[in-house]
Amino acid sequence: MKNSPKKKLTPLPKLLKKAQEKFNAHVRERDKDFGCISCGAEVQQAGHYHSQGQHSGLRFGLPDSLAYYNTNGQCIRCNMFLSGNLIRYRLGLVSRYGEDFVKELEEYALENPLKKWTRSELEEIINYYK
Ligand SMILES: [Zn+2]
Repeated sequence: MKNSPKKKLTPLPKLLKKAQEKFNAHVRERDKDFGCISCGAEVQQAGHYHSQGQHSGLRFGLPDSLAYYNTNGQCIRCNMFLSGNLIRYRLGLVSRYGEDFVKELEEYALENPLKKWTRSELEEIINYYK
């Protein structure tokens, strides 16, 4: 037995989940007055344009990142029942951020499908969106 037990580190999947929760809550608050990006209904959830499973680098990010705008307030109907309602999602992105930005986001997603988040990156997200 060790005499001075080290502080146990939070497992990475738990940090990932926490970062996602904090970021999503921020997006819901950020977008509440704009309505669902796809249909304009009341914002109930944070919905991804490029899915977090296939584009883990776009699942969350600080305000200076492209990922920050890959997630927007959505209603449950669009996010859950219409699988993101992505055609209207894109139209919403264009009207909110402009066509050039949406193309930049799409090119980034194609070139950077997966990202392994490090502990310090996740902690930075969690601390930022506290
Ligand atoms: Zn909607």
